[in-house]
Amino acid sequence: MPTLTFTDISLLRPTPSLLPFPCPLKPTEKLRIHRLPLKLRCSIAEESKISPSKLSPNLNAADAATADCVIIGGGISGLCIAQALATNHSAVAPNVIVTEARDRVGGNIITVERDGYLWEEGPNSFQPSDPMLKMVVDSGLKDDLVLGDPNAPRFVLWNGRLRPVPSSPTDLPIFDLMSIGGKIRAGLGALGLRPPPPGHEESVEEFVRRNLGDEVFERLIEPFCSGVYAGDPSKLSMKAAFGNVWKLEQTGGSIIGGTFKAIQEKNKAPKQPRDPRLPKPKGQTVGSFRKGLTMLPEAISKRLGSKVKLSWKLSGVKKLDNGEYSLTYETPEGLVSLRSRSVVMTVPSYVASSLLRPLSVCFFCSHWQIGTSFTFILHECLHPAYSIHPELIVIFILGCKFT
Ligand SMILES: Cc1cc2nc3c(=O)[nH]c(=O)nc-3n(C[C@H](O)[C@H](O)[C@H](O)COP(=O)(O)OP(=O)(O)OC[C@H]3O[C@@H](n4cnc5c(N)ncnc54)[C@H](O)[C@@H]3O)c2cc1C
Repeated sequence: MPTLTFTDISLLRPTPSLLPFPCPLKPTEKLRIHRLPLKLRCSIAEESKISPSKLSPNLNAADAATADCVIIGGGISGLCIAQALATNHSAVAPNVIVTEARDRVGGNIITVERDGYLWEEGPNSFQPSDPMLKMVVDSGLKDDLVLGDPNAPRFVLWNGRLRPVPSSPTDLPIFDLMSIGGKIRAGLGALGLRPPPPGHEESVEEFVRRNLGDEVFERLIEPFCSGVYAGDPSKLSMKAAFGNVWKLEQTGGSIIGGTFKAIQEKNKAPKQPRDPRLPKPKGQTVGSFRKGLTMLPEAISKRLGSKVKLSWKLSGVKKLDNGEYSLTYETPEGLVSLRSRSVVMTVPSYVASSLLRPLSVCFFCSHWQIGTSFTFILHECLHPAYSIHPELIVIFILGCKFT
């Protein structure tokens, strides 16, 4: 009899949230980002067989049927996990439920269409990696996929001017975002002429300044890092946030040494056949859908059917003597309870922290305070006759996309 590998409470990556109230926690010293591996294949799931029990004097948590896995949060993480479980592990986890506090799925993903405009109020695009494309195709959205122009330039505002970022090795000698001295420092550091790694886990800032110098950090990595994570690179862990680059130094003794080693290993490894259904992006680009990002969570939720419970806000978690979890929800029908063999938390970190604290199941709840960054999206529709003065708009924002 196969067993599940996630028989306890799992915590997915802490993410920023758009909740309209301030995060009650202080910034953390180190924020580790745990990535969700998106290796998914989707199929239409069966109807949920789990019946919740209403909490009343005559009916308690023990009366409810037991789910194999309850996922807290119907954002993209929760939905992807549910989809993967329903598709790849339905034999061992036939009864999976996703519970979402709001009356819609998607979490941070909020696409709005109004007055002939379509805009995103949360994330605006994703990286079209193969696992992600597989999820898109399996969700039935292949024809709705929109990929960006890989040749569209990227710029960093430096010393009052927008300067192009190098997009290929041939740009390296000529791009004017860095000085000649800064480029030489970066090159020597990448070859291994730099201080050795310290004994502790380095932040992004520490790693980049040590390996590639101050200019690479200040002019390339800091803008990139705040654009991707909206986080503070002096607090983000290099290993967690940019694990692939961190590994290069570990395996090859330097960034360039590690790159060569990785290429050699890739060439030696047997080639995995690529799923022929997947579209092939032409170069580095980003993706979305014809009607915005919200199409993805909505498509997955539709396939999961009654396994997704909306307006179910988890308010309490208890561990029962038999090892199962008892979950209490506030719902429009009043308090209801569910029992489950395993629970996956995909809620923002500060919500998870307060929900899990009474269980004291982990170091995380009792010792860790997790920082959350809040970001706001501003949309500006420009008439082609208007131009934007860079100093007016770029100084106080993380980044700007022209579409
Ligand atoms: C402004 C902004 C821009 C971004 N831009 C990009 C981008 O361009 N590209 C990109 O890849 N990423 C981007 N991100 C990050 C991306 O949006 C998140 O990583 C992703 O949406 C996180 O999804 P999630 O499911 O993990 O969490 P969430 O989307 O936060 O979902 C968690 C869900 O849990 C629910 N929940 C909370 N409490 C409870 C409870 N007690 N009971 C039940 N449910 C509960 C919430 O309602 C929510 O639906 C951006 C984020 C923000 C905020």
